[in-house]
Amino acid sequence: MIKTKLPVIILRNMVLLPLGELKLEIENEEDKEIIYNAVNKHNGYCLLVTPKYITNDTLNTKDLPHIGIIGKITSNIILPNEHIRITLRGINRADIYEYIQKEDILDAIIGPIKIDEISEEENDASIRVIKKEFTNYVNVNPNISNMIISNINKETSLERLTDIIVNILPLSFQNKLQFLITTNPIIRGNFLIDLLVKEEKVERLEKNIETDLQKELDKTQKEFILREKINVIKKELGETDSKEDELDEIKKKISKLDAPKNIIDRLNKEVSRYESIPFTSPEYTINKNYIDTLLSIPFGVYTKDEESLDKIKKVLDENHNGLDNIKERILEYISVKKLTNSLTSPIICLVGPPGVGKTSLAYSIAKSLNRNFVKISVGGVSDENEITGHRKTYVGAMPGRIISSIIKSKSMNPLFLIDEIDKMSKGINGDPSAALLEVLDKEQNKTFSDNYIEEGIDLSNVMFVLTANNIEDIPYPLLDRLEIIELSSYTEFEKLDIVKNHLFDILLKEHGLTNKDVTISDTAIKYIISNYTKEAGVRELRRILSTILRKIAKEYINNKKKVNITNKEVKKYLGKEKYNTIKNHEDDIGVVNGLGYTPFGGVLLPIEVDFYDGTGKIILTGSLGDVMKESANVALGYVKSNYKEFKINKSMFEKNDLHINALEGATKKDGPSAGVTLTTAIISSLTGKKVSHKIAMTGEITLKGKVLQIGGLKEKVIGAYNQGVDTIFIPKANENNLEDIPNEIKKKVNFILVENYKEIYNYIFKGE
Ligand code: ADP
Repeated sequence: MIKTKLPVIILRNMVLLPLGELKLEIENEEDKEIIYNAVNKHNGYCLLVTPKYITNDTLNTKDLPHIGIIGKITSNIILPNEHIRITLRGINRADIYEYIQKEDILDAIIGPIKIDEISEEENDASIRVIKKEFTNYVNVNPNISNMIISNINKETSLERLTDIIVNILPLSFQNKLQFLITTNPIIRGNFLIDLLVKEEKVERLEKNIETDLQKELDKTQKEFILREKINVIKKELGETDSKEDELDEIKKKISKLDAPKNIIDRLNKEVSRYESIPFTSPEYTINKNYIDTLLSIPFGVYTKDEESLDKIKKVLDENHNGLDNIKERILEYISVKKLTNSLTSPIICLVGPPGVGKTSLAYSIAKSLNRNFVKISVGGVSDENEITGHRKTYVGAMPGRIISSIIKSKSMNPLFLIDEIDKMSKGINGDPSAALLEVLDKEQNKTFSDNYIEEGIDLSNVMFVLTANNIEDIPYPLLDRLEIIELSSYTEFEKLDIVKNHLFDILLKEHGLTNKDVTISDTAIKYIISNYTKEAGVRELRRILSTILRKIAKEYINNKKKVNITNKEVKKYLGKEKYNTIKNHEDDIGVVNGLGYTPFGGVLLPIEVDFYDGTGKIILTGSLGDVMKESANVALGYVKSNYKEFKINKSMFEKNDLHINALEGATKKDGPSAGVTLTTAIISSLTGKKVSHKIAMTGEITLKGKVLQIGGLKEKVIGAYNQGVDTIFIPKANENNLEDIPNEIKKKVNFILVENYKEIYNYIFKGE
């Protein structure tokens, strides 16, 4: 084995591989000595070693590696600063047997590397894979010179191939060192393949990142140029609403805004975002809309409440006729609020049929208190987000209806009417009544959070008033927090009063007329009420009076003739009567008036019974609900078990089918109050005895004939009275409710309180 002694150059953090090249600048004297030694005594040959770890201490030969590279100094130049610049070329790996330190000179005894035998196939296969991976690598890294590529393609020695390629790869020091000490070319080849694959990936990634960066850069540049162009165009056109102007405007508004800290902070944050968002980004408009919305909330704006209860009452009286109890309760409510200086009292909810003045009353409260008025209707709302808004990320997002209305109201303490709370429904997008609870709850509404606004907004100074038609349909958790004020249907007399004292004058004014031009007789008003309207409130009545006045106004322009509206004029302007006072005009066998309560107020619900040949079946028609159907069966059971007393022939039940029909088929009827009516109609039909159409009755019945309490008496009675009834049977258990019945009705209607059905029977049929 050939052994040689060569001077050693220690490379720090550098590796020279066979076929590689290295340039070094030598400045210290010992190293210069080594170079002279190599050049002069060893024909330029030297041994290059790279220790794995470098410390600042002088190196001990024990720490030096056992494999090094034989290098040849191909050039050495003495620079003006006396440093020597050398170029080294790596020749081959060498095994190091011994290091010899003599004074400052380090020599090493070396010999050739022992390499394990490699088969030709192994050699060729490895070369092929390396070349393939190298080609892939070159594809993503076009900086490698064609000469090198062609040399590599020509190379047939695995030893040399691996070294050539490693020399041109941008490898880490550790990887290069690993290559240096790996003497088996096959292992080196596999290592190289791994590295090539990895490097190719890295290159590819780098490329992608670069392209993305370039694209982004191009985009921003393009945006910049476009924005500049827009600015120039705007300047040319003399338009000043550049972003800067806009920003100035916004900042000015913020500085004047009397909003809580969280809002100001948020606005400032959004404005700095706005400054940096490019004009073309979709974020730009979203951000700007958001700022505009926040700025439009009337922070710090509060109207001053009217203090004088007298003045408040005066306004309420001016706008609404009667309703004394209601006005009294409203005044009490306002007084308590003033005294407790908070709005912790429950929320007013006005409940009653349409047209009885709920909305106008709420408006009138707002007016009397000197508060701004806003109204939303939540009828049919099934999406929680309608109340609480959609998140900003949602396309076309906006604040919910609460915040939108606050913006509309232009103050932070408006009177806020929420209409039809009994008509919300739960939907797939949440429960609006739960959202409404948050709005109304004093604990939560100090920092009401709208999904769009994202910041707490203080709603605690808002005076909420709610309305509903039907108390039973108000969601329970909501009902629990409300102070219910019920407004019932108006009697004919009340309606007359409303028209005489309020509506007619208002309508005259609306039509540009005065009471010097047009008057109306009481009979005409009553005639209109009973023959042209059928409603609990006065909305329809208002419309019809408007129609008449419109026609009169048209004539008045031509002839300037004063008009007094009597029945004749009503017929002239309105045409044929629309309704008759009483449907059931004639007394009839098997037809009896029951009483019903619809969302439009109380109504007469006549029940009609007839029988025909059959097998004892019972047939029910006329939109009856389950409860009514059961009532019908109970009524029949009761009549059957008392047939003797009611003077009915027993065989009637077996030989006939009994047909029970509720007239007014369009109205869905249900509820436990028709028992007595059904019983009376069955008896009337089976005995052939007529029942007066001026009689009405209400009450559920048991199999033993006991008459049970019912609900909604006031509405039912008003409905019956308005339709001309003069005698009403009501359960004894409802005696207390008579207090609520207007005196006018009590004077004209005979109320008969009954505990057992026999009392009704005796009154109607006994004497016959
Ligand atoms: P609701 O909200 O209960 O459906 P509105 O408040 O809309 O009813 O009333 C309908 C119309 O009837 C309004 O023009 C209102 O001024 C009038 N009105 C109702 N009740 C009275 C009343 N007691 N006095 C004067 N006008 C009334």
